[in-house]
Amino acid sequence: MKRIALIAHDGKKAEMVSFVLRHKDVLSRCELYATGTTGQHISDAGHTINRLLSGPLGGDAQIATMVATGALDVVIFFRDPLDKHPHEPDVQMLMRICDVHNIALVTNPAGAELIIDAIED
Ligand code: PGA
Repeated sequence: MKRIALIAHDGKKAEMVSFVLRHKDVLSRCELYATGTTGQHISDAGHTINRLLSGPLGGDAQIATMVATGALDVVIFFRDPLDKHPHEPDVQMLMRICDVHNIALVTNPAGAELIIDAIED
């Protein structure tokens, strides 16, 4: 069972919810984690998910810790490149930790679709 973290910046949360609902069959066979507000949106849409802290309060750092300790297989992060984020240092740190530990990281919906294809195969 794949362990997947889902994160979406505010401008991308609607896209994340529609991604999760579109792929609910595949994703219901995975163990899902999300930063706080992303997770709230996903759970409001009816999908079960483990919620961590909100990103700006340390949620990205929690996900980085899970990556570093071998607790995640994939990180799907819908980043909004057109907005500023107070926790940008945490975002950079999370991406670096994924590279350090060679954990699959995609940062946009097109990459996320490829991950779903790979899980389905
Ligand atoms: P959020 O955090 O899901 O709590 O909004 C996401 C983020 O890192 O911006």
